[in-house]
Formats: sequence, structure tokens, C-alpha cells
Amino acid sequence: MPGFEFFGAEEKKEVNEVLETGILMRYGFDGPRKGIWKSKELEQAICSRFGTQYAQLTSSGTAALTTAMVSLGVGVGDEVIMPAFTFVASFEAILSVGAVPVLVDIDSSLTLDPAAVEAAITPKTKCIMPVHMCGSMADLDALKAICDKHQLILLEDACQSIGGTYKGKALGTIGHAGTFSFDFVKTITCGEGGVVMTNSKEVYTKADAYTDHGHDHAGVDRGADLHPFLGYNFRISELHAAVGLAQIRKLDQFLVIQKKNNQILKSYIEQVPGIAFRTIPDPAGDSGSFLTWFLPSHEATEKVIEAMKQANILAGNFYWYANNWHYIKKWAHLKNVQSLSALNEAQQKALAALSTKSFEKSDAIMSRCISTAISLLWTEEQVHEKGAAFLSVIKKAIS
Ligand SMILES: *Cc1c(COP(=O)(O)O)cnc(C)c1O
Repeated sequence: MPGFEFFGAEEKKEVNEVLETGILMRYGFDGPRKGIWKSKELEQAICSRFGTQYAQLTSSGTAALTTAMVSLGVGVGDEVIMPAFTFVASFEAILSVGAVPVLVDIDSSLTLDPAAVEAAITPKTKCIMPVHMCGSMADLDALKAICDKHQLILLEDACQSIGGTYKGKALGTIGHAGTFSFDFVKTITCGEGGVVMTNSKEVYTKADAYTDHGHDHAGVDRGADLHPFLGYNFRISELHAAVGLAQIRKLDQFLVIQKKNNQILKSYIEQVPGIAFRTIPDPAGDSGSFLTWFLPSHEATEKVIEAMKQANILAGNFYWYANNWHYIKKWAHLKNVQSLSALNEAQQKALAALSTKSFEKSDAIMSRCISTAISLLWTEEQVHEKGAAFLSVIKKAIS
């Protein structure tokens, strides 16, 4: 999965060009930077590689989600529908803009269940936020239809699915806005970083200013910029953008390796009787960063986890159901409203209600689900060895 596995001379060259001028900031210093604009260059590369009209880099994927939401007009008084299986960043960003996260069940795609979304809509719903987990996608046609019917905003969290597509379009470019994360473990990395993508000039212009204290970036003198509205500092640095620039040029190579290794591994695991795989709404668009499979029962899954541990082949396999960061079951801090700053009343009420809400449908899926992270560094021989070892250990554990 992660681009950090292919870190090398290309990244160093890009970073060194920034170090040569010493201008580590993405704005200003037009003379001394000698024509080096890594952040702008990366934004242009993102627009052309993923087919979006506008791209605004940020300091993280979480900052990108926050920026996207404020730029789309989501805030206090609004509800945002999000899945119960995701990374904590999803609700962090929603809470940060003053909105209420409404958590709903996932289906066997491991992303938003369209029926659960429809059932959760209230007059306060403003936005639906599918999270394209583990390299693959939500059912975007179904979710788009719901958004159109109820006039809602579609914001794609594509942080984990860089390079994935849905019906030929890049994930993250299909909704009103979409985000990627370039943190250290994502498909391509900046070390830390993120991006908001949109085809709306208005959304982009807001994101551009919001991430830089409200600067309108209208002139050549930063000090003379106007501040049409309040902003924050969610800027990326030139050093981080330089790393990302080298990485985005390698993305197609990463995807070829991921997809190939994923298919080989799958050819072994599918031989286990009773195994099923994640539903993928558009199989051709799977980025391949994970292979996600289901066992017949919760009990069988725990047996397999234990057997893989004993056989020393558990590393790189994720049992999200028991993971502190990705599933509602372990988000005690959220359910107990353990916030350092006071949340607004609607947020407090909604979070407190989570502690008694059940997610039976999601539990039934997540308790049987294992995701195997696909490494870029495996040789073909190693993938075959791994597959054979998985097959024998899993078969034995559940026989
Ligand atoms: C990584 C991730 C984020 C947040 O990205 P950071 O750059 O780590 O802030 C958001 N959503 C999902 C689904 C992620 O996996």
C-alpha cells in the first residue's frame, strides 16, 4: 500500500531543490525562490492526474476534510452522515466545523449502506460523506441519487483510495468535493499532507483562502492581501509538497504492483471453503491497496486471527472490529464526549446518543472481516509463498 516503501532518489532530488533556495514556504518570496513552486506544481499534477479542475493542498487529510466542509458551507446546525467504519478523522473534521456527525451502518462494500443513509436523513442533514475505505469505493451512483433527491452535498473521503476509480472517474473527484491524505502510510505520501479536490471555482477559492488565514491571494504582496473571511493555517510546506511531487509520478507504477499482488493473493485465499470477499461496486476501479475477505462467522474469524498469530503471518492483516481507531465499537472517547473544548449542544446530544445506539448490521460484517495490506515490496515469489501459507493456516483453523 504505502508510497514510503518506494522512497528514494526522486524524493531527495525534489526536496534538495527546495533546500537549495531555502524557501520552505509555499507563498511569497518570489525572487529568492528562483522559480521553485513545489506546492503549485503538485496541485497542477493532481488536477491532471485525477481529472479535477481545482486542487488545494493542506497540511493533512483531516485538515482537507475540515476545509472541504467549511468551503461547502457545512457547519453549526448541520448534520453530516458518515459510516460507522472509518478512521477517526471523519468525525474529528465534522466536529471541528461545529456540525453533527450522524453515524450509520456500512454494508458488505465496507462503506456507507445507501439504505441506512436514506433512513438517517432529517431536515438538518446537509452532507453525505462516504469514506472509500481500504483502497476501494462506495456505491456512488446510489449515494449520488440520494443526494440529488434530497438536495444534499456529496463529500468523498478518498483519503485511503488514491488511484481508485468509479466508472472511469477518479475517486475523490465525483462528489461536490473530495479529499486525499498524503500522511506517511497512504498510497502516496508527503510525510504529512492532504488535498481538497473540486470542480467548483467557488469552493476552491474558499479553500485556498481558508487554509492560509483567509488570505485572498489576489496580489503579489502577501502583506497587502485582503481577508474576506476568517481562516486557519492548514498550509502544506514546500518540503512536504516536494516529496509528494516525486511520489505522484510513481503512482501508476504503485497501482500496477498493488493490483498484481492483490490478485495473486486472492487466488489463494479464494480456495478456502466458505470465504467471501468485499463487495466492490466497480471492480475495475479497486486500487488494490488491500485485499479484504470475510470468514463465515465471528468465531471462525477469531480462530483464524489466533492461528495466523501462532504461524507468525499476522503482520499486515487488520481485524478492524477490534481496532481502536477504525470502528465505532472502540470509540469510547467519542461516545463519552471526552472533548477538551466544549462541544455545542446538538453535538453533545448526538454523541451521547451513540452510546446506546446499536450497529448490528455493521457488527455482523466487521466481526468477520480481515483486510490484508498489499506491500509494494513483495516479490512475485513472496506473494505466492504468502498465499500458500495463508491458505493452509486459514483452512486448518476453520476446518
Ligand atoms: C488517513 C485518513 C484520514 C486523515 O488523514 P491525515 O492526513 O492522517 O489527517 C481521513 N480519512 C481516512 C479514511 C483516512 O484513512
